[in-house]
Amino acid sequence: MVKVNKILATLVAFSLVLSLSAGCGKAKSEVGKMPSDTLYVEKVENLPDDFIMGMDASSVISLENGGVKYYDFDGNEQDVFKTLAQSGINYIRVRVWNDPHDADGNGYGGGNCDIDTAVEIGKRATKYGLKLLVNFHYSDFWADPSKQMCPKAWKGMEIEEKTKACYEYTLECLTKLKKAGVDVGMVQVGNETNGAMAGEKIWMNIYYLMDAGSRATREVFPKALVAVHFTNPEKVTNIADYAKKLNYYNLDYDVFASSYYPYWHGTLENLSKVLTNVAETYGKKVMVAETSYAFTVVDSDHYGNTISGDASVTKNYPYTVQGQANCVRDVVDTIVNKTTNGIGVFYWEGTWISSGGSSYDENKALWEKYGSGWASSYAKEYDPNDAGKYFGGCAVDNQAFFDPTGHPIESLKVFGLMKDGNKVDLKADAVEDTNLIIDLNGEITLPTEVNAVMLDNSKSVIPVEWKNVDIDKMKSGGVAKYDIVGTAGGMDAHCYVSMVEFNFLKNYSFEDADEAPWKAKANKAMDELKVEDKATDSLTGTKHYHFWSGNPNTVDFDLWQEISDLPSGTYRFAISTMGGDCGTQNNYAYVKINGEIVAKSEAIFTSYNEWHDSIIDSFSYNAGDTLEVGIHVECAGEGNGAWGKIDDALLNSVSK
Ligand code: CA
Repeated sequence: MVKVNKILATLVAFSLVLSLSAGCGKAKSEVGKMPSDTLYVEKVENLPDDFIMGMDASSVISLENGGVKYYDFDGNEQDVFKTLAQSGINYIRVRVWNDPHDADGNGYGGGNCDIDTAVEIGKRATKYGLKLLVNFHYSDFWADPSKQMCPKAWKGMEIEEKTKACYEYTLECLTKLKKAGVDVGMVQVGNETNGAMAGEKIWMNIYYLMDAGSRATREVFPKALVAVHFTNPEKVTNIADYAKKLNYYNLDYDVFASSYYPYWHGTLENLSKVLTNVAETYGKKVMVAETSYAFTVVDSDHYGNTISGDASVTKNYPYTVQGQANCVRDVVDTIVNKTTNGIGVFYWEGTWISSGGSSYDENKALWEKYGSGWASSYAKEYDPNDAGKYFGGCAVDNQAFFDPTGHPIESLKVFGLMKDGNKVDLKADAVEDTNLIIDLNGEITLPTEVNAVMLDNSKSVIPVEWKNVDIDKMKSGGVAKYDIVGTAGGMDAHCYVSMVEFNFLKNYSFEDADEAPWKAKANKAMDELKVEDKATDSLTGTKHYHFWSGNPNTVDFDLWQEISDLPSGTYRFAISTMGGDCGTQNNYAYVKINGEIVAKSEAIFTSYNEWHDSIIDSFSYNAGDTLEVGIHVECAGEGNGAWGKIDDALLNSVSK
């Protein structure tokens, strides 16, 4: 009997464990790594096994509802969460908006991410062994430094009531996730809350709301980490100040997270410095909650992207599949090896691709119906000034890890390959454009090598072959621009040639901070002789050379520039003047070769706003001779004294 009872007891315990693990959703983890023959991955040393390789995948459900399918690396349709896991992702992040719908139930877009959507995403993540970070915005739509709007249901509440609502809302949401068996590992109370949250702008009130979220989390998921999230790490003192405020109010949290978009948020060195400061001052864990980079500049959903071909962004990596992987690898390396208490990096929306329509109108219909664009027109009632005006598609489809048809791109494998590294033969990954400015009468010589970025992000020069170059045509074509296409490292290379009327003078319009290479010498005691910053008195720009002298016959000076390295040829010199009260004048532009004046042209000052050009049409110059071009000014003066302005000196070649 005893024996039997014991067996029964063991069986009961066994089945309890089984059902418990099923309840917690602890499925067999699919997290692994995919081999690659083409992706170069520099090993991240000291990478802990439990380091968070996170992916925000908040838009997946809305895309799938609109017909988007995802595939594995072999081209078979496969659950995107499984593909993420197989590639080394071990954590999914999902944003949660309180009520992203209008009164008629139409979604605001951006994935229409309410808690029910989060549950759906969480269940699928859990199925493949991925933990979930629940990212509460505590708003009905996007919360970031530019807006932290109060949820509709909390409008008009005093802070005490709002705090209670925040606690109850968080509790209810997390309970839904728990009941669904979702493996919640972290809860984020607020999104990019740089000094505001849920309509509150006083830190004490922000604290009350964050504390409500934290308390609810501790209650429902006692083992989960509580995270706070800020952005703009490039503003070093701001980040330190947020951490100080939270410490002052003694907020119960575990992880201090920051966004890090490399094209906006400063250097990696700075990122590690600001996070390490928080980690070491307050004993917190730190992480990157959002980062991303483009693998192409091509848009795929007919809605403009954050990074496009002409974006003026800091570009430390080329916009290639390899560049995207290198960028992610370096962010991870920074958090692992250069940051104290760094626990992870989440990539933002690596699954947000085109809704799949073949035109703007087709996609717009999908964005409106399924919420798969960043905002639908229905967001107007809640956010009239931003979403209400600029609603549309996805601005980061070129920063995803899936192509427009839902197939994973090679860079996704970086997450799994960082641990051991993946060495492949180095070759050029991107070729830099060459820009040449050539004088109309100068020699046209195209470079034989171009700058390249290699797979490991190192720089190198590689040979280039230009195609269809017609030098004679360019020589006779006058002022024009040419895009010469060539091949380098198997890729297209471009040499943009601008044939210009080149000005061989430097600081020709006196705009440079440094006056050089202009020189001036007063031959008499003058009152004023200097570069002046006054746009209304300048021919172009805001600066010019200015003179004034109160006493008669005291204006007498030379202003000149010496030029070296000028090719032999025929040249023209011109300079502009404007002024008044000059009386009798003896002014001239001049050209001096080997110390002798070889050409002169009269210059005059007449009245305010009357600019005159003094031009020396043509003079010959032989390389190696010393050359000086300038203006001599000598005025008797009248009235309050001679005054004048000199601007825009030009030294151009003249065709023979
Ligand atoms: Ca787009």
